[in-house]
Amino acid sequence: MGNKVLSSICYDLHSHSTASDGILSPAELVRLAAENGVDVLALTDHDSTDGHVEAAGVAAEVGLQFVPGIEISVSWRKRLIHIVGLNVDGGYTVMQDGLVGLRAKRQQRAEQIGAKFDKIGMPDVYDGACALANGVVSRSHFAMYLVAQGVVKDVQQAFKKYLQKGKRCYVGCEWASLEEALSWIHGAGGQAVVAHPARYKLSRTLFREFLLDFKALGGAGIEVSCSSHNLEEARQMAKYAEELELLASVGSDFHSPHNTWAKLGYVHALPEGCQPIWHDWK
Ligand code: AMP
Ligand code: MN
Ligand code: MN
Ligand code: MN
Repeated sequence: MGNKVLSSICYDLHSHSTASDGILSPAELVRLAAENGVDVLALTDHDSTDGHVEAAGVAAEVGLQFVPGIEISVSWRKRLIHIVGLNVDGGYTVMQDGLVGLRAKRQQRAEQIGAKFDKIGMPDVYDGACALANGVVSRSHFAMYLVAQGVVKDVQQAFKKYLQKGKRCYVGCEWASLEEALSWIHGAGGQAVVAHPARYKLSRTLFREFLLDFKALGGAGIEVSCSSHNLEEARQMAKYAEELELLASVGSDFHSPHNTWAKLGYVHALPEGCQPIWHDWK
């Protein structure tokens, strides 16, 4: 159900385009958002703001409010955490320099992943994945290539069999620190939001420590309603948000129209008692 069912304005504050691992161009993404009844859309590509200009142009044409965003890859105590930045100024050079560094790490990691596929007799996978990428090479591109080649039946299976932590072709990486990511987002005039917090499977103690670190660095909010969360997880996240005085965000984490579980603009409304991240937006 779209959150427009319960609130007058439909927000979707987490989505991807071909500027990272989404399959729609920024223009196609914004047009689909408008068709789906989204009023306010954030484009939050992994480690890149390259889609902003195109998306903002089409948003102005179709009368949709565009929020320039980012999803930054962070390592916190050796764990991969995604931090979304909302309303970031893509012209902020310190952030852009940081993102260039992250994309270079992605490239290096892709070569290492490619070497692992080579070792198991699949030497073409690296080139195949890179050919699908557009500046930000992601494990998703490896997965898409494996699906296209008929090696696996879908992207999930590619992760399960080869790409996720502990599997044959997984390669770890030290991404940005939490301090760096938040300083870039804040320097760019944005708000920092923890992406899909229930997905990290941290113990309660560790998750609280993480949220306290995040808050101490000026983090603004957490995604409460998102396609990774079931209703129980959303309620749990709403409780954390209330207790730690964090704002609540919503986002589909849309990547592709073929994903039936993450449709653009279709996110449950926030549970009662949440203060939305947009409460003081102009
Ligand atoms: P990367 O940022 O290159 O490490 O790739 C992470 C991206 O892969 C995420 O943003 C998701 O889009 C996708 N992804 C991660 N795990 C899975 C999974 N189990 N099934 C499908 N897609 C996944
Ligand atoms: Mn992704
Ligand atoms: Mn993510
Ligand atoms: Mn995402």
